[in-house]
Amino acid sequence: MTSSDLNRVAIVTGAARGIGAATAIRLAADGHAVAVLDLDESACKDTVEQITAAGGRAIAVGADVADAEHVAAAVERTAAELGPPVVLVNNAGIIRDNLLFKMTDGDWDAVIGVHLRGAFLMSRAAQAHMTQARWGRIVNLSSSSALGNRGQVNYSAAKAGLQGFTKTLAIELGPFGVTANAVAPGFIATDMTAATAARMKIDFETFQKGAAEQIPVRRVGTPDDIAHTISFLVSDGAGFVSGQVIYVAGGPLN
Ligand code: NAP
Repeated sequence: MTSSDLNRVAIVTGAARGIGAATAIRLAADGHAVAVLDLDESACKDTVEQITAAGGRAIAVGADVADAEHVAAAVERTAAELGPPVVLVNNAGIIRDNLLFKMTDGDWDAVIGVHLRGAFLMSRAAQAHMTQARWGRIVNLSSSSALGNRGQVNYSAAKAGLQGFTKTLAIELGPFGVTANAVAPGFIATDMTAATAARMKIDFETFQKGAAEQIPVRRVGTPDDIAHTISFLVSDGAGFVSGQVIYVAGGPLN
C-alpha cells in the first residue's frame, strides 16, 4: 500500500461472491474504501463484514448494472457515503450457455446486457468522478472465452467486446489521468465454474482436475489470483499501463 492509496474509493460490481468478493477484500486491504455492489444488497453482507472486521471501510450497494437508473443511484450513493469513486472494477457477470442453434434471444440479450451494457453504464457514471479528480482506474473483467469457446457465443462476444471497450476507454480517458485495462481470467474456481460443471453433469472436483491437467501451471485459478492482478492495475505504480488485456490463466493463450 502507498500512502496515496489511502481513502481512495473503489466500486466493485458483482462483489457478493467469487472474484468480485476477493477483489473488494483485496482493494480494502490495499487501503481503499469499497462499495460492494451486487444485484441483491443483502447478499453483499459477508463481503462487507469481512472488510470491516479487518478494519476497512465498505458499504453494501444493491443495483442491477444493466439498469441505468440503478447505476446512477449506486454511484451517487457511493459518492455521498464513501467519497467520489475513482476506481471501478466491472466484474458483475452471468452465463447463459448454449450452442448457437439453441440459444434464445433472451439468453443473448441477458449476457450482452450485464457484461457490455453494465460496464458501459457503470464506466460512464463513474468517469465523471475520475476525470474531476484527474486520477482514475477502470478494470474490466474479460475472459479467455473472448478467444472463442463452444457454447458461449453470447459470452465470448461480450468478453471480446469488453476488450475493445477497454482500449477505447484508455484512449478517451488517458488525458485525464485515468487508465483502463482488462483482466481475462482462464479457469477460476467459483460458483460460475461450479454451475458449468453441474450443467455438464460432472462433479466439480473432477471438472477442476480435468481443467488443471490442461493448464501449464497444473492448477486451476483462484479468485485471489485475479484480485492480485487487479490490485496491481489499480495501484499508483501502474499509471503507465493502459489499454491492455492481461490473461491470467496459468499459461499463454492464443
Ligand atoms: P460469480 O461467482 O457467478 O459471481 C458473479 C456475481 O455477479 C454474482 O454475485 C452475481 O449476482 C453478480 N451479478 C450478476 N448479474 C448482475 C447484475 N446485473 N448486476 C449486479 N451484479 C450482478 O462469477 P465469478 O466466477 O466470480 O466471475 C466474475 C467475473 O469474472 C465475471 O464477469 C465472469 O464472467 C468473469 N470470469 C470468470 C471466470 C471463471 O472461471 N470463474 C473466468 C473468466 C472470466 P447473483 O448471485 O445475484 O447472480
